[in-house]
Amino acid sequence: MTELVLATGNPGKLRELTPPLAALGFTLHTQAELGIAAVDETAGTFVENALLKARHAAQCSGLAALAEDSGLCVPALGGAPGLFSARYAGENATDAENNTKLLRAMESLRGSARQAYFTCCMVYLAGAEDPSPLIGQGFWFGEIARAPGGSGGFGYDPVFCPTGLGGSAAELDSTQKGALSHRGAALRALLALLSQQRRYSPQPASPSD
Ligand code: IMP
Repeated sequence: MTELVLATGNPGKLRELTPPLAALGFTLHTQAELGIAAVDETAGTFVENALLKARHAAQCSGLAALAEDSGLCVPALGGAPGLFSARYAGENATDAENNTKLLRAMESLRGSARQAYFTCCMVYLAGAEDPSPLIGQGFWFGEIARAPGGSGGFGYDPVFCPTGLGGSAAELDSTQKGALSHRGAALRALLALLSQQRRYSPQPASPSD
């Protein structure tokens, strides 16, 4: 087994990532569990922020690390909320406050100007000095509703209507969402790279093998 630190304190992400990564021979710990503080997300792109978080977790733990960064982008708003998705309406803004700010900013926008997409980047580092990070990326396209709908999900799900769905992302259960979402797609892309790497670079045998 390879020990892997997840650069998050979010138990939901730990639950979601544990089964597929255990199947590839990883034992997961959250960085919060290892007493590692979150690093400031100061980079200018999702991929660089994910890399920054993974490198920090790998450096502090001495383990392999996995991090992700995600957000919602509205091209008609110049890509906002983008990197600031979690704090669009202020540093400690709630999901409801972020959604209200977004709906207000888009009040006068119609038709294709309401298009939006979620993006997610997942980065795996075998160690802090790994020169070849594995990167899985996913997108989810749709448009912003006129009002929130649905009671599931989190973040912008109630105002995001995925293309072809006829409702908001907050109307999906977690299995349906995982099959369609940016995060599900990024995870599948990363797992494909990881399983390829594990097939072609076998881990050293442990004494009990
Ligand atoms: P983080 O990558 O977990 O920091 O997420 C950044 C922010 O993007 C979240 O706080 C949400 O506001 C938004 N976001 C990311 N993924 C989703 C999603 O699947 N649904 C709704 N909002 C999301």
